[in-house]
Amino acid sequence: MMGIFSTMGNFLRYVTGRSGVASLGSRLIHSPQSLRVLMYHDVPESLFGHFKSHMAWLSRHFEFVRPNDLLPHDLLRETKVSRRPKMLLTFDDGCADNYELVAPLLESYDARGLFFVCPGFQIVELDRRGHGIGSHTLTHAPLAHISEAEATYEVEQSAALLASWLGHDCHFFAWTYSWDEITPHSLKIAEGHHRFCFSPCGGLNLWPRPPRLLARTSVDVSKPVPYLQTQLSGLQEWAYKSKQEWLWRLWSSANGA
Ligand SMILES: [Zn+2]
Repeated sequence: MMGIFSTMGNFLRYVTGRSGVASLGSRLIHSPQSLRVLMYHDVPESLFGHFKSHMAWLSRHFEFVRPNDLLPHDLLRETKVSRRPKMLLTFDDGCADNYELVAPLLESYDARGLFFVCPGFQIVELDRRGHGIGSHTLTHAPLAHISEAEATYEVEQSAALLASWLGHDCHFFAWTYSWDEITPHSLKIAEGHHRFCFSPCGGLNLWPRPPRLLARTSVDVSKPVPYLQTQLSGLQEWAYKSKQEWLWRLWSSANGA
C-alpha cells in the first residue's frame, strides 16, 4: 500500500512540476520579503548534474543571500532593492564533495553556502571565501535522546572548537535528524552560543529581518528540477504549519517566555 501511495505521490509531484502549476505556485508564495532556506546534504559526483540544474533554475527565480547577510551588521548594508525572493542554500554534515564540487559552483553564481559541519571539515578556507560555517553538534549527536549534560557538551564544545578554528564566533547552528529531535534545554544552550538556529522543518522565513529560529526545506538532490519546483510551490506548506507552531512554542519555553 505504502508503495502505491509513494509512487502516486511521486507521479503527482512530477506532473505538477512539469505542468507549470508548481512554478506558478512558487511565484505566488514567495515574495521579495520571503527567505527560503534549502537544506541539502552531500552532492556525490554522480548527481552533480542534477545539482547544476537545480542551481540554474534557482538562480533564475531567486536572489541568493549569503550567510553573512543574516548578521545584523551586514543587514545594514542590505540596501540593494531586489524584487526577487531570497534564497539561502545550506549543506549538512560536511561531506568532501561540498568542498570540492559545491562551493566552486556556488561561487560561479556569486553565491555562498552555509555549511553545517561537525568539526573536522575543511572549514577555515570556506569561511575565508565568504561561505558560512555552522555547528551541527560535536559528533552529529541526537540531542533529544541524550542527557542534558551530554547535550550541553555536544553544543558547547562544537561551538568553542569551531570558533577557535574560525577565529570568530560561530553564528549558526542546525540540530541533527528530524524536525522534532530537539529539547528546550538544547535549544537554550544553542541559542546562547549562536545567533541563528536552523530547523530541519520546511517553511518560509521573513526577509530582511529573519527570526532567530529559521525553517529549512529539505531537498533531495537526486530529484530533477520539477520536484524541486513542487517542493517550493506552497502545495506542501500546510504540512509544516503545525510543526512550525510546535517549534515556536518550544523556542518560547526555552527562552522562559
Ligand atoms: Zn546531519
